[in-house]
Formats: sequence, structure tokens, C-alpha cells
Amino acid sequence: MARVTCSFCRLPFHLARVREGAEYYCCSGCALASRIPVQDGQLPVSPGLLVALAAGFGLFNQVLFGVLGAAVAAEGRPETGEKLVWVSVAIGAVVLLGFSGLLVLARTRRWSDGVVLLPALAAGVWASVAAARGTWLEATIALFVANLLLALWSSRGWFRRMWARRTQDRSSAAPND
Ligand SMILES: [Zn+2]
Repeated sequence: MARVTCSFCRLPFHLARVREGAEYYCCSGCALASRIPVQDGQLPVSPGLLVALAAGFGLFNQVLFGVLGAAVAAEGRPETGEKLVWVSVAIGAVVLLGFSGLLVLARTRRWSDGVVLLPALAAGVWASVAAARGTWLEATIALFVANLLLALWSSRGWFRRMWARRTQDRSSAAPND
């Protein structure tokens, strides 16, 4: 096993085989984050950034239509409410597909990716069962759980880097205390 440093968060990890000069990422989160380069605090437009924005926008609209649908149904218009929640389910399904695509794109193939994909998959199955029974609100809640898990999982590269920088600052400041 060779010790390498993650090209994004700079945390060390181990790999079985290492090629000279290649970039390595400790997790799919770092691999994804590296596709959204931040230069001097500015965000240049990249495919990764567009996908991330689309996913965030989709997730927001999924919640919006779900809440709106539930409110309209509670006001005594169940048919209109159900239609709105159905739109929420459709958006949620698209976002779920998008996140799955992102994880495939990241191509880190580490076992930890499977750990979060399993509950996400379970929530996806739960959503399909609920949708088949016509309980749209339950379906959109299940999809939202899956999407939230995948969103947090996909953005963990930034959390890792923040954490790595904080511990670095602390250890470099320690001798002066
Ligand atoms: Zn990393």
C-alpha cells in the first residue's frame, strides 16, 4: 500500500497502486469538488458547477411543490394538491438520477460510496412502492431523503478540505502558544 495525498482536500490516504504524476482523490466527494474549481474566490462556469446548480435548484423545487401540494390538499382541494405533489415526485426522480450520474462520473469506486448508495437506493425503492400505491406525498418524502443523503455525500469534499485546513492551522499555530 502506498501513502498518497488527496489532490483536493490534501488529507493522506492509502492506495494499492500509484502512478507517478497522476491525481488521486480520497473519495468521490473530493473528485466531484475538484471539477468545480474555485479561483480567487470566483466560480468559473464548468460542467460540474452547472450540474451542482441544477441539482440544488431541483431539490429546492421538489420541496416547494411537495409543501405546496400538501397545503392545497389540506385546504380541501385534494385533486389539485395531488397533482402538485406528483410534480414534486417527478422532479425528485430526475434529481436522484442526476446524483447517481454524478457519483458514476466521479469514478473513485471506493467501498464507502456503496455505503451511502444503499440507503439512497432503499429510499428510491420505498418511493417507487409509495408511488405505485398512489401515495405521492410519501413518495416525495422518500425521494427527498435519498436526494438529501446524496447531496451531502457529493459535497463532502468541501467539508473534508475545510476540516483539513482547520486542523492544519491549529497544528501550525500550536508552537507559538
Ligand atoms: Zn479528499
